[in-house]
Amino acid sequence: NRQLVLAARPKGEPTKDTLRLVTGDIPSAGKGEMLLRTEYLSLDPYMRGRMSDAPSYAAPVEIGDVMIGGTVAQVVTSNLDGFAPGDWVLSFNGWQDYALSNGEGVANLGRAPAHPSWALGILGMPGFTAWAGLKQIGAPKAGETIAVAAATGPVGATVGQIGKILGCRVVGIAGGPKKCAYAVNELGFDACVDHKAPDFADQLAKASPDGIDVYFENVGGKVLDAVLPLLNVNARVPVCGLVSQYNATKLPDGPDRMNWLLGQILRKKILMQGFIIFDNFGHLYPQFAKEMGGWVENGKIKYREEIIDGLENAPEAFIGLLRGENFGKRVIRVGQK
Ligand code: NDP
Repeated sequence: NRQLVLAARPKGEPTKDTLRLVTGDIPSAGKGEMLLRTEYLSLDPYMRGRMSDAPSYAAPVEIGDVMIGGTVAQVVTSNLDGFAPGDWVLSFNGWQDYALSNGEGVANLGRAPAHPSWALGILGMPGFTAWAGLKQIGAPKAGETIAVAAATGPVGATVGQIGKILGCRVVGIAGGPKKCAYAVNELGFDACVDHKAPDFADQLAKASPDGIDVYFENVGGKVLDAVLPLLNVNARVPVCGLVSQYNATKLPDGPDRMNWLLGQILRKKILMQGFIIFDNFGHLYPQFAKEMGGWVENGKIKYREEIIDGLENAPEAFIGLLRGENFGKRVIRVGQK
């Protein structure tokens, strides 16, 4: 059983010394347990937070413990009702080949799900984050303008496509021309601006001629700087993530603009609300599953995955995710092809 354990808390960007590969015996399932074999491991930006012991909404992974993570697995042996060998499940095995489970928090996906790994993306946590954050906090109305960064990732791509279904103008922000072309041509966004372009802020203003009513915040940093002056009166800002800051070791230099920001919020009556998906909106999951399942089935929402083979490649793939090297939802195929 190969496991990636947390070897050291990273300062700044994680390195090859952050996680260590160890090998041990495959455990066997006792009474009230089942043995799961990991097929797919989800890589998600929040994992950077778990590597750190700074105070957060969830406890950190301890040094020497297996790195946590959402997985799609198959049941190998089971002493539990409702789970039989061969069943596919959505579980939380973490970064390892095999894990024992008592069934808590594990969802049975059946014998032959059409796209098992999608439970880690569009049909799972990231899709739910986009759906709930946009609808519940963003509350967009037809004709309004939505802006969203990390526009081709699982959250951003879904936010934008739901925005189109709801009749909004959608402006994506992504890293590079390839991702931007995909957002417009494949996902149906009205415009997409490359945040690496030197005149990014001007381009964003031009792409948002009527200002921005909903800014779905995924990244923070200079994207936020460019968006703030464009926010309309009564704008809503679901604060979902700040991926540009996850590796930061200190606040950015420059003038303290905290009071300028509060002035904007006050004068424009802006609503900004942070949310942690299952804490805030867990009760809406069945509603999400039904609506998103329908949209995906009838092709209204598209989903792009980037599958990387081999558990041993997960650390490097994770470092790349925070740099924006992924194009679509990054998933590690742990099991055999
Ligand atoms: P993505 O797969 O979209 O990966 C992150 C993306 O962020 C990169 O691909 C890159 O896209 C972009 N990015 C990285 N650095 C920067 C930067 N400096 N400036 C601008 N963009 C950058 O991630 P997810 O869709 O899984 O997650 C999106 C956000 O949602 C994250 O912030 C995540 O933490 C948050 N989240 C929050 C949840 C909650 O409960 N609040 C739950 C789930 C996710 P590009 O190359 O296009 O810039």
